Amino acid sequence: MGRIDAVEALGFTFDHGREPLAYCLVRVVIDDGVVGWGEACDSFGCTYASVVEAAVADALAPLLVGEELDRLDRLVHKMRSWTRRRLGHQWVAAQAISGVELALWDAWGKVRGRPVAELLGGSPELAPVSVYASSVFLEEGPADWHLGLLEPLLSAGVRAVKLRIGVDWEADLETLAAVRGGLGSEVAVMIDGNENYTVSTALAIAERLAALGVEWFEEPVLQEDHRAMEEVAARSSAPIAYGEHMFGLAEFAEAIRRGWAGVLQPDAATCGGLSEAMRIAAAAGEAGVRVVPHTASGPVALAANLHLAAASSAVDLLEYPYPLAECWAAVAPDCPLGPDRVSGGALSPPPGPGLGVEIDLEAVRARPYVPPPPRTGPSERFTGTV
Ligand SMILES: [Mg+2]
Repeated sequence: MGRIDAVEALGFTFDHGREPLAYCLVRVVIDDGVVGWGEACDSFGCTYASVVEAAVADALAPLLVGEELDRLDRLVHKMRSWTRRRLGHQWVAAQAISGVELALWDAWGKVRGRPVAELLGGSPELAPVSVYASSVFLEEGPADWHLGLLEPLLSAGVRAVKLRIGVDWEADLETLAAVRGGLGSEVAVMIDGNENYTVSTALAIAERLAALGVEWFEEPVLQEDHRAMEEVAARSSAPIAYGEHMFGLAEFAEAIRRGWAGVLQPDAATCGGLSEAMRIAAAAGEAGVRVVPHTASGPVALAANLHLAAASSAVDLLEYPYPLAECWAAVAPDCPLGPDRVSGGALSPPPGPGLGVEIDLEAVRARPYVPPPPRTGPSERFTGTV
């Protein structure tokens, strides 16, 4: 069936022009020569990739090398149960385990000769997944500039767009109203708050968003303040979304039980892996909570979330972080994930076998990881609440 010979994480930094962004791939080598690729995401690339590299090298790889590649849940259980009392079950530990789990799924799909979505229970036809354009901060330009950025995806049939508001939210809402008008009523708009607000500011913003017909207000208040989340979710005029900083089925189940969000956004490269994300999506779907997976990282993370969306009947829309497409093309040049592959507002999972993404190792190694510089935009630099 195949024995695991090596597991390693590979951090790299890609210069996107606006700012460099770090990523962390995971490579699993099986004794018959099969290579599986995974990726860990911390919600936007993998900022401290060297920390994840160390977690994989020191904590996870020794648990897997020499193991047989079958019953992936058993291997994930082994990683979790050995590290739980030392590294915890969230954040870096969950991100690192996610990256390894994705690589194991990719290798397993290659051994079986099947796409991962099919092995997760989906149809072998890999139906295209509707995507929404995940765009930039409103403060970065006027409405016409935003509409110009979005134009290629709108022309490709994309009918939902997400923009980010920041510290100067009154000005951002004016830009948003102009963008909203320019997009036309057939395009849905969502807003990401990046945990920047107090409860009272969040509720004031939500009222304005609801008046503009915004579909959801993402991460309005600090996620560790559960009382604030519950108050905002209960009183907000617009639906609330959370999930890119949630880990494991138990936390998502608590979010469902306590009504933290009307839209949940698990990410297979963050929350514990593809199997965990499938369980989360199923639980949310059964509870009647909308599931729109998060993805904002490299090509393997995007492919994994496409396979998740294709396999789960609870998912009908996926984030599409098009500003990162230059990185996907550089490190996975043959990978059909770029904006030119979006058609009818949808993108198909790479056909596989496995996750269907082959990484150019030389392209990764040519871009060594460097720890992140301070962010440059006013809202990206912001670390408090207004
Ligand atoms: Mg977000």
